[in-house]
Amino acid sequence: MVVGEVAVETDIIIMGGGPGGYAAAIRLGQLGKSVVLVERDRLGGVCLNRGCIPSKALIHAANQYQRLNDLGKMGIRLSQERTTMDLGIWQDWKEGITSQLNQGIAHLCKENGVTVVKGQATFLSDDRIGVETDGDFETYKFEQAIIATGSRPYIPSFIKVDGEYILDSTASLLLQEVPSSLSIIGGGYIGIELGMAFAKLGTKVTIIEMASRILPQVAENLVKEVTRNAKKLGMNIKTSSKVEKASVVDGHVHLQISSKKQGSEVVVSEKTLVTIGRIPNTEEIGLNRAGVTVGEKGYIAVDMECRTNVPHIFAIGDITPGPALAHRASKQGIVAAEVIGGLPSAIDSPYVPYVIFSEPQIAGVGLSREEAEQQGYSVKTGKFPFSANGRALAMDETEGFAEVIVDAESHILLGMHMVCADASNLIGEGVLALELAARVEDIALSVHPHPTLAEGWMEAAEAVLGHAIHIVNK
Ligand SMILES: Cc1cc2nc3c(=O)[nH]c(=O)nc-3n(C[C@H](O)[C@H](O)[C@H](O)COP(=O)(O)OP(=O)(O)OC[C@H]3O[C@@H](n4cnc5c(N)ncnc54)[C@H](O)[C@@H]3O)c2cc1C
Repeated sequence: MVVGEVAVETDIIIMGGGPGGYAAAIRLGQLGKSVVLVERDRLGGVCLNRGCIPSKALIHAANQYQRLNDLGKMGIRLSQERTTMDLGIWQDWKEGITSQLNQGIAHLCKENGVTVVKGQATFLSDDRIGVETDGDFETYKFEQAIIATGSRPYIPSFIKVDGEYILDSTASLLLQEVPSSLSIIGGGYIGIELGMAFAKLGTKVTIIEMASRILPQVAENLVKEVTRNAKKLGMNIKTSSKVEKASVVDGHVHLQISSKKQGSEVVVSEKTLVTIGRIPNTEEIGLNRAGVTVGEKGYIAVDMECRTNVPHIFAIGDITPGPALAHRASKQGIVAAEVIGGLPSAIDSPYVPYVIFSEPQIAGVGLSREEAEQQGYSVKTGKFPFSANGRALAMDETEGFAEVIVDAESHILLGMHMVCADASNLIGEGVLALELAARVEDIALSVHPHPTLAEGWMEAAEAVLGHAIHIVNK
């Protein structure tokens, strides 16, 4: 190892080039700061290379594949040949997408004057980091630093991920062939998204979830629609069930499962995917040398400006407590950059949306009905089923509903949630409405284009006021 003697000086150093780190770097560049962004792997982090984008590319391909079977009723006839899925070709297509996005980030960094350094960054003190690249070691002196090192899958000690039979989410997105059977440990959003995609591709999927239902973080009425579809797709869902042991026997994975209802059983599948949570990458980056304290389960606590306990060191993204979501990481990155740049900026909004790319999709922002009631609100809700929406019928996507939750006294919107086709693209309206403290009348009185799924929001809002047009008001 060659140790650089003179430290390179920079205003700001950023450790990690995921959606948090690169957004911060670009914003700092826009604010005229000298920035060094250190990334040990590929720009874009988990989100771009192993998470959001590859998983959505798989989900999209699986949707297209599955829909082929339903085209007959619209008069579209396929040839007699059986449709097949070549996951190897899909891998090339996905790689094309991620490469294009990687290059886009590199270009934006360059145009904004950000220096990107490839290597593993570690704090040496509270104003220096060392970066190791292929045996070389360079030292950087900084005024301020942003830690954005992200997270990795949590794997319990009794399971060994081998990448061949027992997979984490990263390995599952690298498969070259569609497995005949897949057991998934964990019925959270990653397990459900990937499970439904593989089920659509013909895999026999079994989900094993410790809680009493899948997607336990999400309101039950939304999840019901997804559970029904999972069963339609032939998925076997075992709730209130715990995996005790995992072993590979004769090229198959044997999972020993215990549940109060059914006792002990063994689930055998070609492959197993473990998706039971993620842990922050905070152990090996010398945080103690910088004086940054790490809280429970390895997360770094930050204030509204994303400052750690060391005022000139900031932390953003999956290493901070809160939902591990790419848009939260990016928002924190922008806030940290603006605070460093001397602008008034803070994470002060509770309106972080969530999106689940299940079948149908679930998306929401703000409080659920139960949460609003627990917080002491007198609540009114309005619901509109997509079976009464013309566009949904014309798309053959009539499942689900839009729901608005409103403070009965002020009529201010408290939450907007939906389960339906394309919910991920429709929730933007909800985020804006809640950010602007809109009243339910604001949604009801806004002219929504026809025929669109977005009309579902308008009709749900009208339902609160008792005058939805396309359903009987009760
Ligand atoms: C399968 C899957 C699907 C997902 N789908 C969604 C979704 O649909 N929507 C959504 O919002 N979120 C989704 N997520 C979550 C999302 O990917 C993360 O919340 C997001 O990537 C976090 O961003 P980050 O910047 O905090 O960290 P990361 O994206 O984890 O990036 C951290 C980067 O830091 C680098 N690094 C770590 N340590 C060092 C070091 N010492 N030196 C240099 N570099 C280092 C890593 O190589 C990595 O590139 C998904 C995740 C998975 C796994």
